[in-house]
Amino acid sequence: MLDTTKEFLKSTYDIDQHILALCQQAEDDIKHTFIKIDNIRSYNQYNVIAAMQREGVGERHFAATSGYGYDDQGRDALERIYARIFGAEDAIVRAQIASGTHAISLCFYGLLRPGDVLLSISGRPYDTLQEVIGISGNSRGSLREWGIDYKEVELSEDGLFDKIGIKKAIELYTPKVIAIQRSRGYQWRQSIDVNAIGNIIQFIRGLGCDAAIVVDNCYGEFTELIEPTQVGADIAAGSLIKNPGGGIAPTGGYIVGKKDMVECIAYSLTAPGIGKEVGSYAGGYRNFYQGLFLAPHIVGEALKGAILASRIFELSGYSVFPASHHHRTDIIQSIRFEDPEKLKAFCRGIQKAGAVDSFVTPEPWDMPGYEHQVIMAAGTFVQGSSIELSADGPMRPPYIGHLQGGLTYDHVKLGIMLALKEMDMAK
Ligand SMILES: *Cc1c(COP(=O)(O)O)cnc(C)c1O
Repeated sequence: MLDTTKEFLKSTYDIDQHILALCQQAEDDIKHTFIKIDNIRSYNQYNVIAAMQREGVGERHFAATSGYGYDDQGRDALERIYARIFGAEDAIVRAQIASGTHAISLCFYGLLRPGDVLLSISGRPYDTLQEVIGISGNSRGSLREWGIDYKEVELSEDGLFDKIGIKKAIELYTPKVIAIQRSRGYQWRQSIDVNAIGNIIQFIRGLGCDAAIVVDNCYGEFTELIEPTQVGADIAAGSLIKNPGGGIAPTGGYIVGKKDMVECIAYSLTAPGIGKEVGSYAGGYRNFYQGLFLAPHIVGEALKGAILASRIFELSGYSVFPASHHHRTDIIQSIRFEDPEKLKAFCRGIQKAGAVDSFVTPEPWDMPGYEHQVIMAAGTFVQGSSIELSADGPMRPPYIGHLQGGLTYDHVKLGIMLALKEMDMAK
């Protein structure tokens, strides 16, 4: 950091010398890990550009559309581009998909019928999906209410797939859909990298099981060279206000995968027989294209920020996941605070670093879809966007805070410094 920068941070934010020194030390320790991130970013950047070139993207694709949206060129080309990038046969990329939960939920409702079994092989799914499945909440409208049974196989202690358990569950329940969550969500475990997903799919196919394999790809996009649909997953889905929207997409979700399955899912999104043929967007598609173009770079910034956070909290004596030197397949950094006040102070600091809403004080609240109170910090341009710098954590022991996103590395760095300052003050 330049002395000018240090002086600025001291005079503007009253950031103490020991925090600046800690930050410097952490950066020195992690600099070498950035090369790998840069290499992945480069490949993904060129892959995205090439996909757009092959579809002949031009100004006309950005146009606003209205009504049914028949032959909406911007929408259709964007979907073909997603399919190309993810090595998939087809894609649904829509502003009408309200969130990641909505995207994944559509996959389940599109592919499962009464009497079928959904099997999760990466343990308990993300909080909001538990209500979709019907294992938490009042189960109204859930898969369970529709007569779809749910089974799960825990990951092993070291965060790997439990092959014996999976084989047993497949033989016992003949699942119609097998769900895999790539990222950890709110769990304290290793995220599952794409190679591991590929290996387990081979194992499952080796058992003669032809269930549809659906990957919750939230937070994973562009963190590696390949995506789950390139190693045998039938479907992958996620949110556009996370990685693939590049911080620019204003809303939306995507689903990529096998053509016939994507069609079934599109029937749940709109109506049977109509599927992908309708859906206009009066806001125009420019931001979805530009966001996708920026996404590999933005994901790289977020990853570097996550590694910095990991190292700084390691140096400060906290237990973190993943460790700063660890291989990453998502953008989440978890820190175990063991103390509700520290978790709150951490979130306050992240909030104070926002270019937007820096004056807001985050408080724990009952967020829809979550069982415990959750505290969230997000000073974002797009509401709730977690590819932008954000932090959250359920208010339950051991008070783990999750940091993710950051459109620029410097912003993440400021967030961490202000978080440390708030935590100092809370002592
Ligand atoms: C964010 C997330 C979801 C849900 O996405 P929302 O947009 O918050 O509904 C599902 N699974 C994982 C792993 C996530 O990180």
